[in-house]
Amino acid sequence: MQIITDLNQMQQRCLAAREQGRRIAFVPTMGYLHAGHRSLLEEGRKRGDLLVLSIFVNPTQFGQGEDFESYPRDLSSDAALAEAAGVDLIFAPEAQQMYPRGYATYVDVEGLTDTLCGRSRPGHFRGVTTVVCKLFTIVQPHLALFGCKDFQQLAVIRRMTADLNLPVEIVGMPIVREADGLAMSSRNVYLSPEERTRALALVDALRLAARLAHGGERSAAAIIEAVSARILSEPDALIDYIQICQKDSLEDQSVVGRDSVLLLAVKIGKTRLIDNNYLFEEV
Ligand code: AMP
Repeated sequence: MQIITDLNQMQQRCLAAREQGRRIAFVPTMGYLHAGHRSLLEEGRKRGDLLVLSIFVNPTQFGQGEDFESYPRDLSSDAALAEAAGVDLIFAPEAQQMYPRGYATYVDVEGLTDTLCGRSRPGHFRGVTTVVCKLFTIVQPHLALFGCKDFQQLAVIRRMTADLNLPVEIVGMPIVREADGLAMSSRNVYLSPEERTRALALVDALRLAARLAHGGERSAAAIIEAVSARILSEPDALIDYIQICQKDSLEDQSVVGRDSVLLLAVKIGKTRLIDNNYLFEEV
């Protein structure tokens, strides 16, 4: 496994690999890797013959006052996990190389980004789509793997890839959870032990919603109300959003069905957590 920080060297390596007929599988991340990232890498290993991981805490997707500076970073333990998962190349560029002086080009997906996290984090998805588009151009992947943990992000990236005719297959992967159900996230390290316990309210709320749906409840408002009450039963929990959306358009639904996804964003103390689940699926 090789770690490459230089953007041009990375692009040359990937272009050469493509010319040799190698199938490039790509997993973009912000590092501080956990078993969720590992599941993407393992699937990428199966589907491609050159497995590329990028580690880049992308400044353009963080808003003012968000956690760009404090976002956890640990390249040496990431490299160990990556090597064990069979990664061939890690791309870990510096921000100055990705966004040099005079940088002025951004990718903006309309519509899908107006709701959910896009509403509470203005500019976030513009940063995500811009960096993913740049990474695709550098890494030249045949396929790229993303987690359903970031459900809206996956929908936005699928839209961008289709709209810009990017020759990349987008693969969505299931959410990996801790044994007690908490969705794995690099940001979970921010949680104190008490907050870590309170954070289980998110998965608990998703389970409650699935029980209601299976029990015959079809009103999105009624399910959202029950979920909201469950979340607010935790001290220090602040709801950013709880929405039930159609899985592809991300439009709010009033009557739930097989294509309904419940998405939530909740602050536990200072830590903002997101989670989601298809309403009719067990969590
Ligand atoms: P991040 O490093 O948080 O930007 O995430 C990089 C990729 O890993 C994204 O496609 C995420 O959706 C995915 N990911 C993060 N957490 C999980 C998880 N718990 N299960 C599955 N995929 C995840």
